[in-house]
Parts: sequence; structure tokens; C-alpha cells
Amino acid sequence: MNSDYMKSAMDGNYNQFHHVLVIEDEDSRKTVILEGANYSVGRDSRNTIVLNSQKVSRLHATLLRRTNTINRSFSYWLLDGDLQTGLPSRPLLMEQLKMAIANSFRSDDLLSLVFLELEIFEENGNSLNYRLKSRILEGFAKRLRACLRLGDSIAYWESSQFGCILPQVRSTQDVGRVCNRMLESLKQQFFLDNKKVYTRISIGIALKGNEEKTAGTMIHEAQDALAKSQESGSNNYKFANEKLQLETERLLRIEKLLAHALERKEFCLCYQPQIAVNENKITGIEALIRWEHRDLGIVSPGEFISLAEETGLIVPIGEWVLETACQQRKRWQEESLTDQPICINISSQQFQQTNFVAMIESVLDKTKLEPYLLELEVTESTLALNMELSRKCLMELNEIGVKIALDDFGTGVSSFGYLKQFQFSTLKIDRPIINDLSSNPQDKALVGAIVNVAQSFNLRVIAEGVEEKAKVDELLQFGCEEIQGNWLTIPLKEKKIMDFLIKSDCIL
Ligand code: C2E
Ligand code: MG
Ligand code: MG
Repeated sequence: MNSDYMKSAMDGNYNQFHHVLVIEDEDSRKTVILEGANYSVGRDSRNTIVLNSQKVSRLHATLLRRTNTINRSFSYWLLDGDLQTGLPSRPLLMEQLKMAIANSFRSDDLLSLVFLELEIFEENGNSLNYRLKSRILEGFAKRLRACLRLGDSIAYWESSQFGCILPQVRSTQDVGRVCNRMLESLKQQFFLDNKKVYTRISIGIALKGNEEKTAGTMIHEAQDALAKSQESGSNNYKFANEKLQLETERLLRIEKLLAHALERKEFCLCYQPQIAVNENKITGIEALIRWEHRDLGIVSPGEFISLAEETGLIVPIGEWVLETACQQRKRWQEESLTDQPICINISSQQFQQTNFVAMIESVLDKTKLEPYLLELEVTESTLALNMELSRKCLMELNEIGVKIALDDFGTGVSSFGYLKQFQFSTLKIDRPIINDLSSNPQDKALVGAIVNVAQSFNLRVIAEGVEEKAKVDELLQFGCEEIQGNWLTIPLKEKKIMDFLIKSDCIL
């Protein structure tokens, strides 16, 4: 080996080497082992053999053969990689984890450290020889790699343990999904030398958000969680934090059941009226989806809409809502119950569909509902995703005669500029602002400003989530006359809203 390389290695600077092999004992065995092997080898002052070969698997085979020939065993590992699996090894994972922790403060995402422990069993209960075990670890490492994203790191930790770093994960469900994927792929049996080999996998997870956590703490947490996973029978994953475990399990269960909810007819709609207080008149009725599941009970949209968006299920679900609500509205018209629009929430993914406007037209056509009786509720964040598309879409909807409401105004970006750029008919002030109205002078100023601007743009302005009479009086002082909320009524199912509409002449 070139002497500059060796000097560098002796200074502890291993970066320029392809691999650095560490042999546990300082004695003549290492010379025997590598004698005649086809690698450039040097030795530094600290019991370390330095190689410049990239062929890790070939080196591993050589070492194994030679260990057997001299009939003696000893331990060896690569400083930057593992010989059996070809994966980076423990010291490198530690370095990568420290780096990931330093980077994690720059993003709102989660950093996740996942430890996996593999238990290997042969069909007839025999124990596996070293060579077979080594091949399984190698195959396991390949399957594991295939379950992860390009930016994720995997390393061989020790014995039958692997560590993975998943930086920039959006949610705990995402971590749960990756772990489910790992379990699915890794628990498949291996066939080696005409033998069926079974594995059992335990997974422990540590998470880091914006809080301070060292690499040591994360490793400790993930190892503790791994022990819990083993205690509970393996082939499962456990988060270090039990509350997160329960939340994630519930959300993933919801996600799984959600896939069949539409075909099993588990959704229904509730309706909540909006009223103009001074005129004592209903001005619109919002349709709100509910999911009634036999085991889960009633699941609120707050829990499942974002999951439906992530999985793309929101598109068929959204279409079902539109069709059902428009049909319902048509029925009220036939019974002369109200002359006001039905208001339907549109999620951002639904809005981004290229055939969105065509789908609305087709629903109106099918249900024979006049476009002016339909109001679509969108949020600023939906519009902001693609301003060009939003402009085109809203213009086409305006042309058809469908109304547009800007929902949840006041808590997000709350740009009055949107009111100039897009043609809305209604502005809905978000519930948290209305909630804090009495106690927060800033919210008072905000409501005053929103009402003034809305009136000058000739928009209806509705206060959402009004729960008490005192709030109604306060809102009236600001000139906000339209309200929606539990003070008037909670969202009602089909039959009850019919009764409500029938009696609506005397609602106040
Ligand atoms: P949103 O459109 O702002 O709907 C208003 C939410 O406030 C509803 O919650 C309603 O039940 C609740 N609410 C009304 N009055 C009061 C009140 O006085 N007090 C309190 N605490 N809450 C009140 P819900 O039905 O749970 O819906 C939550 C959100 O889920 C909706 O917010 C909307 O963004 C979304 N959502 C509901 N249905 C659909 C749907 O069919 N499609 C889509 N894409 N989103 C929906
Ligand atoms: Mg809404
Ligand atoms: Mg809202």
C-alpha cells in the first residue's frame, strides 16, 4: 500500500480509503488470514488493517475461507461497512445520526431512528450454520433497502440487528407505514440450500421533532422500544412513546378501513344551516360528512379527511358527497323547503383534479340542480397550491353560475388580495377567531376588518362555530349578521334537518 495512505490511516484519517478493516486482536493471525489474499493491505498503529478494495463480499468470502482453513475464529469488521451485509456499520450510523439530528432543526418534519432485530429459524428447528446465517443477513439487508427511500440510511448494528435513519418524515403514520412495509417484506421466508428458513422481526422506533435529543438518547429509546416489540411477540413495531403508538395504530387502522368505507356505504351527510340573524332567515346549508363504522364508532372528518387526501381516496369520496348533497338539495327544492344554496367542502386534492369543473357539471346535470343552488367551499391553502389553475377553475365555475365561498378565513395566510383576484360570494370567518372574540382584542380588530372588507367587496360574511347568544350579539355589533354554529343547531342528519327546515319560519 502506498505510504501516504498508510500515514493518513495512522493519523486516523480513513476517509480516503474504500474500507477500513478492524481486527480485534493484535497477533499474527491477521497476517495469516490475509496472506496471499488479493488486497492491498497496510496496518496502522492501532490494530487496524487498511484495505483499498471495494469488493466487500469477495473480501468477506476470503476471510471466511481462511478462518476455516486455520480452524480459528476471530472477529473483524469494517469501520465504515459490514462484511456480511455490505451495509455501513455502527460507527457510520452514529455519524449519520448526529448529522441528521443537526439537520433536523431546519425542518418541521420528524427524524426517525428505527432498530430491527431478526430472529432466524430453520424449518426443522436445526440451528443455522454461520455461512447460511450470513447469507440470510445479506438477503435481509437487500429487502430492507428496497423498503426505504433513497435518502434513508441503513446500517448493520450488531449480531442480527440493523439500524435505519429516516430523516424528514411528515408524520408518525408515515413511519408506521414504512414499518408495516418492512414487516411485510421481511417476514417472507427465505429458501437457501433447499431449506426453508423463517424469520421473526421486531422493530423499535425513536422519534425526534423540534425538541433537543442526542444520538445517545435516540438510540436508547429505539433499543427500549425494540425490547418492547420483542416482549409482545415480534413481527410488530413499537414506538418509544406509548401515546404515539396508540395514535398511529388508530390512524393506520382508520386508513385501512377507509379504503372500503365508500363501497360499504358507511358515510352519511349531516347538514348545518347558516342564518341571517336580523332577517330571521336561512341563507345556506353546509353539508358535513360523517363516517359511521361498526367498531370505530363515529369518525369525524377532522380525523379521516387528511388521510383520505394522502391516499387519494378523497376524490371518489368527494364525488359521493357532491352527488348526495346535490340530490338532497334537489329534494328540498321539490318540497319547497328552502331557496338557499347547499354548501359543500372541497379538499385541495379534489380541486386539483384536471376534470374538476367537468365533474361538477356532470353532477349538476345528473341531479338536475340549478348551479346557483350550489356553493363550493375552498380554503386559501387550496387556492395557493396552484394559483394559475385556481384562477382558471374559479372563473369556469363562476361562468357556470356555481358560487364559491372562502372557508376558514382569518387563521391562515388571510390575504385580502385573494378577494380581488378571485370572485367569491361568501367569506367564512374561522372558528378559533370567533371563539376568542370576547377575550382577544386582536381578534376583535380582525373580525371588524374582515367584515368591513367583505362588505365593500359585496360578499356575504359568515361567522363559523358560534356557540352562544352573547357571541351573536357581539358579532352583530361588528356588522356580522350571518352565523353558523351549535347555538342555532349542531349538524343534523337528513330526517332532522327536514324537520328543522319545515319549522324554520320560527327559528329564532
Ligand atoms: P368546516 O368546513 O370549517 O366545517 C365547520 C366545522 O365546524 C364542522 O366540523 C362543524 O361541525 C363544526 N362546527 C359548527 N358549529 C360549531 C360550533 O358551534 N362549535 C364547534 N366546536 N364546532 C362547530 P366537522 O363536521 O367536524 O368538519 C370539520 C372539517 O372537515 C370541516 O371544516 C371541513 O374542512 C372538513 N369537512 C367536513 N365535511 C367535508 C366533506 O364532505 N368534504 C371535505 N373535503 N371536507 C369536509
Ligand atoms: Mg366548510
Ligand atoms: Mg370552516
